[in-house]
Amino acid sequence: MSDNISGKVVVITGASSGLGESTARHLSSLGARVVLGARRKDKLDALVADLVSAGGEAVAYQTDVTSQTEVNALIQGALKTFGRIDVLVNNAGLMANAPLSEGRVDEWDRMIDINIKGLLYGIAAALPVFQEQNSGHFINIGSVAGMKVFSPGGTVYSGTKFAVRAISEGLRHEVGGSIRTTTIEPGAVDSELKFGSSHQQTSDFVVDFYKQAIPAASVARAIAFAIEQPADVDINEIVLRPTVQDF
Ligand code: NDP
Repeated sequence: MSDNISGKVVVITGASSGLGESTARHLSSLGARVVLGARRKDKLDALVADLVSAGGEAVAYQTDVTSQTEVNALIQGALKTFGRIDVLVNNAGLMANAPLSEGRVDEWDRMIDINIKGLLYGIAAALPVFQEQNSGHFINIGSVAGMKVFSPGGTVYSGTKFAVRAISEGLRHEVGGSIRTTTIEPGAVDSELKFGSSHQQTSDFVVDFYKQAIPAASVARAIAFAIEQPADVDINEIVLRPTVQDF
């Protein structure tokens, strides 16, 4: 059991599947107390039951990250339950890929609302808590698509993940000193993300591309690595891909 993870209170958005769920399971197994948010409360409740039956401490709040009120309630719920927050994993995300010429503006709006504004609501809610505590750790989930434009099809998704990287760097620069900021930039990871595209041709391409995906636990381990460092070490970025992935 890692000394610098055990007992920490970790809030995770998008914890009902994929990276968020896997991270919750891994950190809980290392002794973290986890606070889970997502829209599918039934999935969160089942996960909480699993973690608690394995001896962990976990609670869940139904949270749509596009609602600032609900993100605030998640953070306040964590404080009410555990009295402090050590880590916020801003993980909730959507990848709805299609060529720009398809004009699927509603999907652009949803990706911007979830991937950028949802993350910002998390920062807005947790930063005052971290400043009051004089400690805290933001872990923001970017993507290799936030380092290179995933085109054609992934332009808006890439735009949101470039934004995650920019916001994370600005946050680190502004609040570093006692508050840590880590951006995780994964390549293809097995999860429900690959099913988010309504444009058939792009969806077929994405599902095929994801045949090389690595398990979500790979990202959970990277997140644990960032958390378990001593407080004077801030792991700012971790990029990880399937070994066989070229993009
Ligand atoms: P999943 O689709 O499996 O998980 C996405 C999670 O986000 C779900 O728990 C979903 O829960 C939640 N979510 C979606 N919309 C909202 C919302 N409005 N409010 C709250 N929660 C929401 O995909 P991943 O696990 O792969 O994705 C997690 C993160 O990892 C995302 O930010 C994604 O961009 C990033 N990423 C993933 C990669 C991959 O290859 N899988 C690679 C690089 C980055 P619910 O529907 O219950 O709300």
